Amino acid sequence: MTPQKISLDSNGKLIVPDNPIIPFIEGDGIGPDVWRATKRVLDAAVEHCYNDSRKIEWKEILAGEKAYNKTGEWLPKESLDAAKEYLVSIKGPLTTPVGGGIRSLNVALRQELDLYVCLRPIHWFVGVPSPVHYPDRVDMVVFRENTEDIYAGIECQAGTEEAEKLLNFIRTEMNAGDKVRFPETASFGIKPVSKEGTERLVRSAIQYALDHKRSSVTLVHKGNIMKFTEGSFKNWGYELAAREFGDKIYSWAQWEQTKKDKGLDFANEEMEKAVHDGKLVIKDVIADNFLQQILLAPQDYSVIATLNLNGDYISDALAAAVGGIGISPGANINYKTGHAIFEATHGTAPRFANTDTMNPSSLILSGVMMFEYMGWDDAAKCIKNGLQTSIMHKRVTVDFYKLMDDATQVKTSEFAEEIIKNF
Ligand code: NAD
Repeated sequence: MTPQKISLDSNGKLIVPDNPIIPFIEGDGIGPDVWRATKRVLDAAVEHCYNDSRKIEWKEILAGEKAYNKTGEWLPKESLDAAKEYLVSIKGPLTTPVGGGIRSLNVALRQELDLYVCLRPIHWFVGVPSPVHYPDRVDMVVFRENTEDIYAGIECQAGTEEAEKLLNFIRTEMNAGDKVRFPETASFGIKPVSKEGTERLVRSAIQYALDHKRSSVTLVHKGNIMKFTEGSFKNWGYELAAREFGDKIYSWAQWEQTKKDKGLDFANEEMEKAVHDGKLVIKDVIADNFLQQILLAPQDYSVIATLNLNGDYISDALAAAVGGIGISPGANINYKTGHAIFEATHGTAPRFANTDTMNPSSLILSGVMMFEYMGWDDAAKCIKNGLQTSIMHKRVTVDFYKLMDDATQVKTSEFAEEIIKNF
């Protein structure tokens, strides 16, 4: 088998050869430990499921401290080029450089490849210690917009010429100077939210929900306060759903319209019929309410589509309910170009570097997401089985060990072997 690149066909469908070349960044701090364990599990799963007919050709690319020490650059151009060329990559956590230049390597990678979806599946593995009573009711997939919003990086510091000019504009052109409560010392941030940016995110979330037979997509927003940004996100989302997926969905906007036109009973009947017919429900909820709903009634939510900042908070709040960042996977994806980087959601935990003690599940499950993205579902399934059984046997890393009764503590590398034993 000659190693080959993953590519896209003319319909935008991923073509995955049996011997794909996949770039990896091992990461800083605990990165090498969790990456070693992950690679061991991913390779073993491919061998277990496909014998010799499939095999990954790993290609190391440099980023973070390792890149800086070897090349003097935090994110060398060759690494970016490789991530572009080979489409699908996987990475461990990276140190955020302190001082000028790059703000964050993760943000730089997302921007360079225009990875507009941050995908975070939140699923509880039976037996994982959780702070909530019914973690089994949490089963969501968060689509967080990754390129816009207040995270776009357009900020100016109080006292600078830019801040002064912006304040002037607000006063003279927007007639809103009195809304800046303390103008002399105010810093500013700009929140761009576009129709295209919203539509590509919501489209991906709805398509995912249909492909995976999920029951609903919820648009989470603060449109009640930020009407033109988050309010537009909601409206553009509903409009896109109706325009592009009309016969496959039932939206709350439609329910509200029917209620207005024909009364509550009729609207409820119409909705019940749509759900009975297997239509995907599109609804919306205001972000603060959503944060209480995920504790009170998580079973009512399935796929979530939300803006960048909301998505940041929501992903970690949900991750906490199913066991924390040590076991939460993530990916950054551009479904149009096919580019995707699968990554651990935790940081480099530098205090524990080279101790072989940390939980590798976040990166291993990111590898599972990568296999699902590639269509290698059998390998994905057998890893999930292995992980579930290892947790049920209570042979776990220190983070879970401390919270479980009668558990046995194992090292990062030993946990990987447990998973493989339990495929
Ligand atoms: P962190 O996630 O590295 O660590 C916080 C704490 O979480 C650790 O002390 C540890 O107790 C626990 N933890 C983290 N990963 C774990 C694992 N796999 N298993 C068990 N416990 C785990 O967060 P931090 O200390 O705020 O950040 C350290 C560095 O990582 C910073 O440079 C930060 O910028 C960077 N960072 C990178 C990413 C990324 O690359 N995606 C994400 C977050 C933070």
